[in-house]
Amino acid sequence: MFLSVGVRFEANVEALNMVETAGNYGKHRRVPYLVEEDGKLKTVYVPAVSGESLGHAYQEHLVRESLSMSLPVCDDCHRGEFYKSMNKVHLQKKVNPIPEDPKEIETAIVRACVVEDVGGFLYAEKPPVRRTSAFQVSYALPVKSVALFATSEPQLHARHAQMDASSKKGNASEQMIYYVETGTALYGFTFNLDLDAIGVSAITSEPILDEGEIKKRREAALKALFRMLSSGQFGAKLSRFFPVGGITEVAVAVTEHPFVVTSPIYDDYVEKTQKRLKILERFKEGYRFIVATGEKVPEEALGEAIDYLHERGAF
Ligand SMILES: [Zn+2]
Repeated sequence: MFLSVGVRFEANVEALNMVETAGNYGKHRRVPYLVEEDGKLKTVYVPAVSGESLGHAYQEHLVRESLSMSLPVCDDCHRGEFYKSMNKVHLQKKVNPIPEDPKEIETAIVRACVVEDVGGFLYAEKPPVRRTSAFQVSYALPVKSVALFATSEPQLHARHAQMDASSKKGNASEQMIYYVETGTALYGFTFNLDLDAIGVSAITSEPILDEGEIKKRREAALKALFRMLSSGQFGAKLSRFFPVGGITEVAVAVTEHPFVVTSPIYDDYVEKTQKRLKILERFKEGYRFIVATGEKVPEEALGEAIDYLHERGAF
């Protein structure tokens, strides 16, 4: 089964994705963006949070949820360093000796680590072995209709140190000023999870693990998503720039086969998704679509989707 989630969140004064530091100036990621104004398309630069950043956060949650369910996670992934068996040095730590057959290499890695099972890997040696990630995540970009109001502004901060005459000989300055560019926007992003790919070989399409283990891993993958969204633990600089705001809306589609919700950067994404889902009925394909607006909180919508998956025996 396939899960697709559109998320809208409001973030005032966030520093979720910083890209470079020039001297004492930390820059926020910014991307060119097409918007329509007075019937004409134009490009504006808007603050953004990369899919890599969101993907990293998801995998950190996956580590934690997997460990709490006593599922295997390799040492690199446990530390939040997602090298993912990229070469012999990293693979040898969990598989030794390294088999020669790509299928056996994939099997060994999937058995040893949930993160590489769900998040994929690229073993760039001879023979190369590639496993596509079972989850996909987009950039978080400002909602189109209000993208012109999205800003990234530098905030001045100062660090002060009290010094007496003797310590002045040192190199530390009494005062250091620095700037952090902060973004403010209503963001939207999409997260997809192909539950059928978990524990299944990307080479042969045959299950690598037994059904019980696959179901536990699916549950860990769902819990990680739930935790990431409900805790707001994604992106950088949370310790002093935890975004002010929160999730304003989520739309969750659960389908038998891959189906992706319309991007939440569009105001009519819920209606569009509904229309697109209706067409599945012609193929007698069951689905569930849950939207959290008004009274319903995002956690409820996700919870209902997870209940539905449970009813359908996905985990
Ligand atoms: Zn790993």
